[in-house]
Amino acid sequence: MEIDKDALRAKYLEERNKRLRADGNEQYVEPVGKFAHYLEDPYVEPAPREPLTDEVTIAFIGGGFAGLVTGARLKEAGIDDVRLIEKGGDFGGTWYWNRYPGAQCDTASFVYMPLLEETGHMPSEKYAHAPEILEHCQRIANHYGLYDNALLSTEVTDLRWDDELFRWIITTNRGDEMRAKYVAMGTGPLHRPKLPGIPGIESYEGHSFHTSRWDYEYTGGNPAGAPLDKLADKRVGIIGTGATSVQCVPHLAKTAGELFVFQRTPSSIDTRNNHDIDPDWFATLEPGWQQRWLNNFTLLQTGGFAEEDLVMDGWTDISQRIRDKVVELGDVSPDGMLQAYHDSDDEKMTEIRQRVDQIVDDEITAEKLKPWYRQLCKRPCFHDAYLQAFNEPGTTLVDTDGKGVRQIDATGVWVGDTHYELDLLIYASGFEVGTPYERRSGFDTVGRDGQKLSDKWADGMVSLHGTHVHGFPNMFIVGPSQAANLISNVPHNLVERGRTIAAILRHAESSGVEQVETSLEAERAWVELLEAGGRSFGGDQTCTPGYYNNEGIDVEDGSRISALGYPDGPVAYFNYIADWRSTGDFAGLDFR
Ligand code: NDP
Repeated sequence: MEIDKDALRAKYLEERNKRLRADGNEQYVEPVGKFAHYLEDPYVEPAPREPLTDEVTIAFIGGGFAGLVTGARLKEAGIDDVRLIEKGGDFGGTWYWNRYPGAQCDTASFVYMPLLEETGHMPSEKYAHAPEILEHCQRIANHYGLYDNALLSTEVTDLRWDDELFRWIITTNRGDEMRAKYVAMGTGPLHRPKLPGIPGIESYEGHSFHTSRWDYEYTGGNPAGAPLDKLADKRVGIIGTGATSVQCVPHLAKTAGELFVFQRTPSSIDTRNNHDIDPDWFATLEPGWQQRWLNNFTLLQTGGFAEEDLVMDGWTDISQRIRDKVVELGDVSPDGMLQAYHDSDDEKMTEIRQRVDQIVDDEITAEKLKPWYRQLCKRPCFHDAYLQAFNEPGTTLVDTDGKGVRQIDATGVWVGDTHYELDLLIYASGFEVGTPYERRSGFDTVGRDGQKLSDKWADGMVSLHGTHVHGFPNMFIVGPSQAANLISNVPHNLVERGRTIAAILRHAESSGVEQVETSLEAERAWVELLEAGGRSFGGDQTCTPGYYNNEGIDVEDGSRISALGYPDGPVAYFNYIADWRSTGDFAGLDFR
């Protein structure tokens, strides 16, 4: 494939520069005032109950995958007194809130959906749809008895270590003031909806909602994909063309009277190739298969070699192309690796742009749908109906040439000098990233001697293994940061963390200790190790702006440190932590 690399670089730069704006992440606004209900639970009315003042062994804040898999491992380890606290009316996290039409996982179900073997579930599709994933969350909770002691529709408002009782005091919006010997937090990195700070956004008088609070009463249809039949006579606008929009636009295009897709930056859309799972084939999988699939996916997705690609999807394809290019160029120096990455990415993105031409009938629309940046600058998307949606007669792509919607007024939106009158305006504008953790989680955490976690992390996250924080005894964090940082399959990070926390608690409880805490030295040494490795998520300022690179503004040191991962990559981290927890001496932790 002949590619004019200089011309391509120039085009990427030109497109990126159009989108750079001085306000960076500040361009987004919180859903307050007239939009405050976007933060509320539209699905479940909280059942009345008396406030609690009891004590549990471990309280877990967040009932998404992090809480579920950790709860499951704790139960397996014989720690029965587990309480999950979740602000939604049921478990599921992302999959509880996001019920927009077409929602599905974009990492293969066999590695994305945790605890499949333990719960005996066969995913129905290679990429399962949201209702099945939500049901799986409930299946995990039922299987491990996690509903028994759970507090749903309950938001933590304060979390405080009591150094006389050696207990965490947890206060909630339901009047609870309970104690827990241990706490763990899995509050999720992207869950607080954000809105574009477009002038006049408050003045719109038509119907509107954020994709994570889809209003089926207005649109008709349901999360299972039934037609959005109430939109037949409506003019619908959607702002945003990220991973969420890519999944719901095909449904809107099929049913809306007219659909206007307001685009600032097109997503890269590779093939999906979803298919049903054959139960006969599934029955041939040998016990232990899911861990093998996880290991195989992570190895291949991060550039390793394996005899077989079990998952075979867009993610493993990206990495194997880079890896094969390294072999082809025969240069394993850092420069050689970079060259291989650039060459393989240029080919991949050229294919993705060619795919647009093959699918989209209208040449001008096709041109506007082509992404001009490297594939990993933004979340890569995979879909077999999104580009096709622009061939529907009622669907119009409104490209804003990188500038975004200029103004919103009572009846619709303005792009340049053109006004689009709308009955419904949907915000597919994503979720807060890079804002302070206490704002996203809704509470601060106060450790020993009244120290706030927000103060401790004022210059960036510090931890041992991404899990333990000095000054915060008996507290565990569950997420990808300062650990494997495996972005292509977030649940893998959580499954491993659940195992680790269960092993620590089993050890602590069987030895009769009151406190587990990392030492300052161990914490420092871990962060230094990560800093020396410099493997950080995002921050590539040659990329088009987005949440992967702090909207194109150089990140402060603090954010960079918070996004660090284990120097030798996810596979090495998972091996390291498996060894660490199996030796039984838990180096870096003090048990008192
Ligand atoms: P994103 O943050 O990815 O997308 C927000 C969109 O809003 C972007 O297209 C952005 O444009 C656009 N936008 C913002 N302001 C304006 C404006 N003023 N005018 C016009 N457009 C504007 O949010 P998503 O909800 O799509 O996805 C968030 C993340 O959630 C994904 O990256 C992914 O990690 C995850 N996700 C995963 C899915 C899965 O696994 N199946 C499915 C959906 C989401 P621009 O690009 O120019 O900034």
